[in-house]
Amino acid sequence: MKKDIMAIGLAAVLVSACNSSEKKADGGNGDNPFLSEYSTPFGVPPFDKIKIEHYKPAFLQGVKEGNRDVEAIVTQTEEPTFENTIVAFDQAGRLLTKVLTTFSAEMGANTNDEMDALAMELSPVLSEYSDKIAMNPALFARVKTVYEKRAGLNLDKEQTKLVEETYKGFVRGGANLSADDQAKLSDLNSQLSLLQLTFSQNMLKETNAFQLIIDNEADLSGLTEAQIANASEDAKNAGLDGKWLFTLKNPSIMPFLQNSDKRDLREKIFKGYIMRGNNNNENDNKEIVKQLVTLRLEKAKLMGYEDYAAFVLEERMAKNENKVYALLDEVWAPALKATSKELDDINAEIKKEGSSFTAEGWDWRYYFEKAKKTKFDIDENQVRPYLELGNVRDGAFYVANHLYGITFTPIKNIPLPHPEAQAFECKDKDGSLLGVLYMDFFPRASKNGGAWCGGYRDQSYENGKRVAPVVTIVCNFTPPAPGEPALLSVDEAETLFHEFGHGLHALFHDVHYAGVSEVPTDFVELPSQIMEHWVMEPEVLKVYAKHYKTGEIIPTELIEKLDKAGKYGQGFATTEYVAASYLDMDYHVLKDLPVNKEQLNLDVVNFEANTLGKRGLPSQIPPRYRSTYFAHTMGGGYTAGYYSYLWSEMLDADGFEAFKETGDIFNREVAAKFRKYVLTPGGIDDAMDMYKNFRGREPGTDPLLHNRGLK
Ligand SMILES: [Zn+2]
Repeated sequence: MKKDIMAIGLAAVLVSACNSSEKKADGGNGDNPFLSEYSTPFGVPPFDKIKIEHYKPAFLQGVKEGNRDVEAIVTQTEEPTFENTIVAFDQAGRLLTKVLTTFSAEMGANTNDEMDALAMELSPVLSEYSDKIAMNPALFARVKTVYEKRAGLNLDKEQTKLVEETYKGFVRGGANLSADDQAKLSDLNSQLSLLQLTFSQNMLKETNAFQLIIDNEADLSGLTEAQIANASEDAKNAGLDGKWLFTLKNPSIMPFLQNSDKRDLREKIFKGYIMRGNNNNENDNKEIVKQLVTLRLEKAKLMGYEDYAAFVLEERMAKNENKVYALLDEVWAPALKATSKELDDINAEIKKEGSSFTAEGWDWRYYFEKAKKTKFDIDENQVRPYLELGNVRDGAFYVANHLYGITFTPIKNIPLPHPEAQAFECKDKDGSLLGVLYMDFFPRASKNGGAWCGGYRDQSYENGKRVAPVVTIVCNFTPPAPGEPALLSVDEAETLFHEFGHGLHALFHDVHYAGVSEVPTDFVELPSQIMEHWVMEPEVLKVYAKHYKTGEIIPTELIEKLDKAGKYGQGFATTEYVAASYLDMDYHVLKDLPVNKEQLNLDVVNFEANTLGKRGLPSQIPPRYRSTYFAHTMGGGYTAGYYSYLWSEMLDADGFEAFKETGDIFNREVAAKFRKYVLTPGGIDDAMDMYKNFRGREPGTDPLLHNRGLK
């Protein structure tokens, strides 16, 4: 997800400047790496030289320069033109962008208390900076002048879009509001960014705080050797030598829930997971959720919208909440039906082993694995040996090479964001540089959970030359057992292809202006999710899925089993996901609550229970994220936007059909179109137009439903 980046209110501050008048904040700027050109291979950040104390002075200098750039646009005597106003604004604040890009990426992958504190300190400065620009009347007047005469300016499509997006950005940033309302908006924005940041930091703290410590070998029953080895290693690192430690990070908890024979321990870790941010301690997020929802509604009203969803959705492909709910509703009923069948299978397994209880949340994954084994004679651990991490990564490279003719070569002697990261040079088929790709696979305490694709430098143009992007893929895969390579689950292999798809989107990116580089949130998962279609294709598996010990190619029989079992479990997966999407939407379509200085009268726990209860969510399935750890929506980034994965899936399922229809999943012509119309142009076109250019028509929902086995 760049996109799946969570937790970073700062990254949202794209174009911007505060007046934080330049008190001495430079601590010896002479050796601050941000303040000079990077003299590294490919111009990547000199990670080995960047120290935490470099960020703040570089930020403040960036703010100062950004203000100066804006001042220069406003005070010039020439009439506003595309170049002297729109382009100049697009290029304003370069240093700040440079620092922010690296800071945001590091906040996700290499954070610590000091970084957290710094983010907190800088957040209001940046939100003030960005508001001052958005509400600068002289600047807006110039932008408006160009906007109004754009039709007669002989601009190309990308330039026209830039003018329109810039103008719209100002309007949405409050440029048309009265001075009083602008002050209110500014205040709301800075409160919101602090709350989002606090939410995410609380979540990380709560995730790190929970420990399931096992000191009795019998309690490890059912776990795999790799799990046990990792838990022992984690315990050692936590000063619990000789014990086994399990945590709420994904590669620890999910396989535990899947494999542990100990029902009471499964219950313990499961409850730890779903109670994050809801423990009435100093990291509790309930009050923060309440405040966020209140202030967002207040902001929407101030901007003239009936609710917050309406404010954000007008920028998305879906356009309005009715379309979002229509898609969710279309999938919900068949998902519940599939879930109820899965639950029957699960309860049958419980009975089969002679137990008399009915399944609870902490039983689902465990008995589901057994049911899958019963039905399809397959289990996760048969497949892992064929999914060695390096092989899966090379499989992703292979697919990209066969679709687009591009190559990935390891780079030696280049600064790495972390010693565990790997670096690759990505070249186009003609040998020209597309960009640098970092990959950083394993969990650590300084890393946020989940997986995402971000960047240390966005693609841009300088003096007419394309500046190649520096892209990073960050995951939390199951670490290898000591002395063994890392073996992935099917889910993890899909995640690798997913993030790699975002990576390709960033690497192919070729736009001239930052202001038109972004695509809508509900389009952004198309490039990533479409890549997931290749990972389990027999033709592709036969290339990369080799047994890590023997080198044997994955047997056809196992591929067939995988294929048959592939759709099993989609009831659960769809249900937990759509439940979270409803939750996200329901918070942000609230309209009628009293919006004044008082807090909304919102009880987060009850609200969540009502939203899910009225739609019939089975008690065994919590939503994929509950309110108090739903960083996508509460931390920002995917607010009223968690539905985007499903929306994008409608596109990717339909889009992959374009390959299938030709009888060749590597059809170069289709791939060339996909690259040209979807992966390259950033946001210079309307998203639906981009899709139609590629596919020749609008997408339908049938492939999505078939894909999930729901039709
Ligand atoms: Zn994604």
